[in-house]
Amino acid sequence: MADLEDFGDLLERNHLKKTSTRLTVLGILKSKREAISQPDLEKILGKGVDRVTLYRTLSTFEEKGILHKVLDLNGTANYAFCSSSSHSHKHQDEHVHFNCTACLTVYCLDELKIPIVNLPIGYSSQSINLIVYGICNSCNEKATDYLKKKNN
Ligand SMILES: [Zn+2]
Ligand SMILES: [Zn+2]
Ligand SMILES: [Zn+2]
Repeated sequence: MADLEDFGDLLERNHLKKTSTRLTVLGILKSKREAISQPDLEKILGKGVDRVTLYRTLSTFEEKGILHKVLDLNGTANYAFCSSSSHSHKHQDEHVHFNCTACLTVYCLDELKIPIVNLPIGYSSQSINLIVYGICNSCNEKATDYLKKKNN
């Protein structure tokens, strides 16, 4: 599988050993446009991976700029794969996030860049978060379908 080799390269570039947990977590996160919480990851991974290992894996990846963390409405951390993981530790792929208030999913809107914020003199920015709260595409579709059926 080409993807697994890419992940191997990615780990190598970040001086991380290739472990099955790391490769599996990368595979899951890369395949999703949504950010995913640690409890949800645990459900997908099953009993094979313990919590502490998973927690450490996620924090290492975050430190290395391989994934980023987004807090949802409930304050739960959700993790998403960085579309442009670079060699530097500074987070490079800042984009708008969308948190659906109906299904609570956190989406990475990669194509939406965060607008430049002009800070007052004396302030310097390190990172910036922009989360839009609202109803996502799939919840909106469900609502439309429901109304159509109801009106027929
Ligand atoms: Zn990122
Ligand atoms: Zn939704
Ligand atoms: Zn994101």
